[in-house]
Amino acid sequence: MTSSGKKSYLFYQTRRRRPMLDQARDVYMWDVDGKRYLDGSSGAMVCNIGHSNPHVLEAMRRQMEKSTFGYRLHFETEPAERLAEKTASLTPAGLDKVFFVSGGSEAVESAIKLARQHAVAVGEAQRWKVISRQPSYHGCTLGALALTGYAPLTAPFDAMMRPMPKIPAPRAYLDGLDPDDEATGHRYADMLEARIVEEGPETVLAFINEPVGGASTGALVPPVGYMQRIREICDRYGVLLIHDEVMTGGGRTGRFFGADHWGVAPDIIAISKGFAAGYAPLGAMVAHERIVDPVLDAGGFLHGFTYAGNPLACAAGLAVIEEIETKGMMENAIRVGDVLKSRLSALMQRYPIVGDVRGKGLMLAFELVANRETMQPLPKELGAFDRLVEIAYDNGLIIYSRRTRGGYEGDHFMVCPPMIATEDHVEEIMDGLTRSLDTFMAEAGS
Ligand code: PLP
Repeated sequence: MTSSGKKSYLFYQTRRRRPMLDQARDVYMWDVDGKRYLDGSSGAMVCNIGHSNPHVLEAMRRQMEKSTFGYRLHFETEPAERLAEKTASLTPAGLDKVFFVSGGSEAVESAIKLARQHAVAVGEAQRWKVISRQPSYHGCTLGALALTGYAPLTAPFDAMMRPMPKIPAPRAYLDGLDPDDEATGHRYADMLEARIVEEGPETVLAFINEPVGGASTGALVPPVGYMQRIREICDRYGVLLIHDEVMTGGGRTGRFFGADHWGVAPDIIAISKGFAAGYAPLGAMVAHERIVDPVLDAGGFLHGFTYAGNPLACAAGLAVIEEIETKGMMENAIRVGDVLKSRLSALMQRYPIVGDVRGKGLMLAFELVANRETMQPLPKELGAFDRLVEIAYDNGLIIYSRRTRGGYEGDHFMVCPPMIATEDHVEEIMDGLTRSLDTFMAEAGS
């Protein structure tokens, strides 16, 4: 049923349906009944530059009048060429080869298939294992799902996928370790080395991680020294390093790529969500030339999607990057992100159930717990991850939540408004959150 009671012919993951969207502008969205929502999660951390940006709409309109599709076997298109060049200018040196797709799962899928074909091309066909972290989310297609460390999502499909090795995500805050101590970063990174050795280094193809964790870990920032040590370990064993920047790419953390904060260059990057910021379905896999060339020399990359390099999507992506740069949105993400993070941290004084606040720029999250000392999660029956989001939604505030499984159960909430958010929007978010937490606490009887 739709919200107006009519039969619906659509289906998504569950039967739950939402009000009909009417329009969206900047950080706000309105349903057809005129109710206004502050988009405090940029959709699913997608709409980084806000809704209905005039520069992007104009660029898309101009492209639409010229052409909306040009199949890659028949034509090159200028928007794809220009966006590839622009993207390469934002990546670390050598990561110059851009392969367009339509979403995050496709970007990750493309990354592991390129890595595998590279291994075959250079005579290392015994390498096929891609190590990832637990918990993690890398997408829902079977290849990307095999890397996803999130049992409730993967279990029904285990029989259809080859198991891929996992190492723990560096959740220092749960393990009582100091994230600012390099020893902590090294301790978690060394788990990768131990796993490579255990698996047999000659069988390990790649390691994939999110520079700042997405929904699976709730804006988890790696401990000091972690990212650099991971790079060293990959180099030592000839293992390719893939950064899943599907959520972090596009400026949300204050740098165009999340890994830029640590100056670490991977071999392959997967990007989507903020790349065209919701104006068109777009993603990309960006790889170092030394990975791509042997594959092309050996006969070609056996992979590709019909919509690759769609000119309309690429025109949108190009205009999005122009807006991010000319309007100083990454700088704003750092400035307003600092204000929002300190206001979220202040919630810890008022609400004992707020156990942790973390993140970078405007990629922020807070976690609810039963006991802040032990970080024991709230009882599962409370369904906090779902209920608080519902209450906030009723209050006109959209946030994004997960109850992470896989070794730990806890409720965390992403607070990630568009990068155009102001301090006034921060106040509005905090007002909605405070009212929502008050209602949640009253319902929970605490
Ligand atoms: N990788 C990460 C880090 C993500 O957050 C997501 C989506 O949330 C994906 C991959 C999959 O992207 P998509 O849903 O566009 O296929």
